[in-house]
Amino acid sequence: MNKIILSSAALHRILYQLITPLIPEHDDYEVKVKCIDKNLSFGKLETTLNVESKSNWEIQIRIGQLRKLFRLITKIKEQPLVISFESNGYIEIFSGDVEDNNVSPFFAKPNVSSSADDKGILNGKCNITSCQKPKSATWYNHSTRKHYCPSCASRLNNDEFNKRDAMRMFGHDLCTEVQ
Ligand SMILES: [Zn+2]
Repeated sequence: MNKIILSSAALHRILYQLITPLIPEHDDYEVKVKCIDKNLSFGKLETTLNVESKSNWEIQIRIGQLRKLFRLITKIKEQPLVISFESNGYIEIFSGDVEDNNVSPFFAKPNVSSSADDKGILNGKCNITSCQKPKSATWYNHSTRKHYCPSCASRLNNDEFNKRDAMRMFGHDLCTEVQ
């Protein structure tokens, strides 16, 4: 069992790059998923993800499985995810607490602490945890699908990596002001 911890938004970003150029007929193809020195990589994709992992491993995973994973994390709030890549090509997602044994395949619990407030919601609190400026979230982040205050959005937009990624993925800045 190859268990890793990573950010749901970062995983979403890398799966977007991997999945979107592929057609459903590719779903039976397999891609090599590797975790070497806490760097997760997918096939020939140049982007890698920094993750928490106790060991190095590699595994063959069907594109169809990764597509399901991508669809699932598109719907969940930005949060740390614990994911286990099984040797039989099966993927299990846990969310939040690593010690939680209540596991279902392709199931992630909603983030209980943030479900009751308006963090990341349009005109609510800024989605950056260390900011959370109230009634300020007027900028939409096309990757996390959350809203941010103008100064956090500007900082995200000016990050070199985000800039390059957003131009390639969306053809515009990562965050845009909601009109
Ligand atoms: Zn902010």
